[in-house]
Amino acid sequence: MSNLADTPRDPRSLNADEAERLLTGWGHKSYRVTQLLGWLYKKRADSIDAMSDLPQGLRDQLADEFSLRPLELAREQSSRDGTVKFLWRLPDGELIESVLIPASIGRDGSQSNRRTLCVSSQVGCAYGCTFCASGLMGYKRNLAASEIVDQVLAVERWRLAKGVDSHRPEPLVNNIVMMGMGEPLANYDNLIRALEIFNSPWGLNIGARKITVSTSGLAPQIRRLAETPQQYHLAISLHGATDAVRDKIMPVNRKYPLEELISACEAYQQAKGRMIWVEYILIDGVNTGPEQVEALSCLAKRLQCKVNLIPYNPVDGIELKRPSDETVARFRDGLHHLGVRVTVRTEKGTDIDAACGQLRLKSEKKPAPSQALGQAG
Ligand code: SF4
Repeated sequence: MSNLADTPRDPRSLNADEAERLLTGWGHKSYRVTQLLGWLYKKRADSIDAMSDLPQGLRDQLADEFSLRPLELAREQSSRDGTVKFLWRLPDGELIESVLIPASIGRDGSQSNRRTLCVSSQVGCAYGCTFCASGLMGYKRNLAASEIVDQVLAVERWRLAKGVDSHRPEPLVNNIVMMGMGEPLANYDNLIRALEIFNSPWGLNIGARKITVSTSGLAPQIRRLAETPQQYHLAISLHGATDAVRDKIMPVNRKYPLEELISACEAYQQAKGRMIWVEYILIDGVNTGPEQVEALSCLAKRLQCKVNLIPYNPVDGIELKRPSDETVARFRDGLHHLGVRVTVRTEKGTDIDAACGQLRLKSEKKPAPSQALGQAG
């Protein structure tokens, strides 16, 4: 496991209060704080030296304590539907993924200008869900808040370098889902700090309602998140509607069984007054039976939530199968018949390794990335 403790901090983990305390403590005027935050989060500087309107003395002080370590693009895959998958190399050589999903149709079927980035929170994952490429790799480490934030900044730098959507004055990414590699709520403190930077006017200024935290079911952390003032959206990766099925495919359920998870979700809903989304990956012969339809409808009604069905995207090295279109339709219609609001996710990036963790998994298996790049742009 890599040790980042000895390396200088990346300043893109600073929030406004900390930047204020730091700079005024060094004897600088408050307006320098606004300038610094502007360089970090609006102008997306890739070095302290690039912050040209900060006095040299302040830049030297910053350079003594901090180091900007931008993510390096290791690989990129572009889908015919506009989805782009990025493999980033971290300063210690570890690899993580983000996926840019341009949506023309919203979840409710309306036109949408939502441009979503699916963001990773950890290198690998400790939770070992049997269907997941990230789980297959095991856990390596938590991402620092700066490494979570820089996934969005790096996409903006990529866009600038490539001239993507250059007619658009506003940032490319306007919607964030913490649904990439890792369990976000297992990296709680860094997650909350990164969300603050995403959300704040001095940061990336992305509305809390456009930020989704997706969890496999860490009930105590859901209750903690419920106590934050921001209206972040919560999505639950359920994937099984009974403890028997969930225990089999999601080991987290043995620690936080369904009743504990659902009552934490109710607490979240009560605190925020917001609807929760339930994500349900359909895996052939594992969680597609009529008893799951029945149980899922009870949970969905109890939470008054919408259910998003996702046909399984097969992963190399995992012997699980995608169900037939008929099975997906039968499951969806069964829920619908029982009064549940249900959608089947419009698939994105089916011609690339869009399921999270796949691109990294392939890269680790093939030590020569330049050969393995395949369809990458
Ligand atoms: S589904 Fe999520 S929690 Fe489960 S192993 Fe994959 S990344 Fe971890």
